[in-house]
Amino acid sequence: MSATPTRRIPAVVTLLALLALTGCAVGRGHPAHARQVAAAEATASASAATPSVSPSVTAKPAFKSLAWYVSQVPTFPEAPVPQPVPLPTTGSAPFWHRLPTDQKVAFITIDDGGLARPPGVIDFIWEARIPVTMFLNSPAAAEHTDYFRQIEAVGGVVENHTIAHNSLAGRSYDYQRQEICGAADRLEGLFGKRPTLFRPPFGEHDSTTLKAAHDCGAKAVFHWTETVHEGKVRYQTPEKVVQPGDVLLMHFRPALMDDLLAALKAIHRAGLTPALLEQYVR
Ligand SMILES: [Zn+2]
Repeated sequence: MSATPTRRIPAVVTLLALLALTGCAVGRGHPAHARQVAAAEATASASAATPSVSPSVTAKPAFKSLAWYVSQVPTFPEAPVPQPVPLPTTGSAPFWHRLPTDQKVAFITIDDGGLARPPGVIDFIWEARIPVTMFLNSPAAAEHTDYFRQIEAVGGVVENHTIAHNSLAGRSYDYQRQEICGAADRLEGLFGKRPTLFRPPFGEHDSTTLKAAHDCGAKAVFHWTETVHEGKVRYQTPEKVVQPGDVLLMHFRPALMDDLLAALKAIHRAGLTPALLEQYVR
């Protein structure tokens, strides 16, 4: 994944600011190792912050505090070296419910952006090293740019989810192109990087969508295989367990911390490791 200097410089500045705020001195090493380190640090800092009656008593982090969420994150198997999937050269973007891969990874995606933006999510993503792809509506991204830039600074990637969040299926090429290219242009202006992935609102699309998405710079169009809402994973496939390449969908809603944790636990139960979609589609 390449980044232009115009994007990287503010991201690094924001990251340094975050580091100063959290006092976190851990580099971004191997994700699995980093998760363990982050959890250990969170436990240590929670203990240090608690008035100590007896040094032998280890304080538990308060329920649903940031340290609690981090402490609940499982330790994952080591992530494989990403093998990017082949992309068609047909002039249309492929449409995938799950990434066509046998690698033992699954992907967390967060949609929309206009409804709610829990502030704890930024530190949770950083502390637990959660790879996330954000499919944003461009007006929400424009109104709350700082929030999404902070998630970007801790490793998240911004992708395209149209301007108006209308169903695209059956609409004209010009309408669909305006919704997809218009959002891509705006997101590129806000974040310094043009989106390379697209998710149609409600997953509703037709062949025109895939052509327009391709013409607007999308390498692939994604549906999903699981939804996560208020801490519950709902499987949309017969297996009822996360499969390699699965794409988990959640939204910027008030319970996003719980949704992220539920997704991580479901991925862990399946023997998989969370990975970044953009490392597999490039
Ligand atoms: Zn949406």
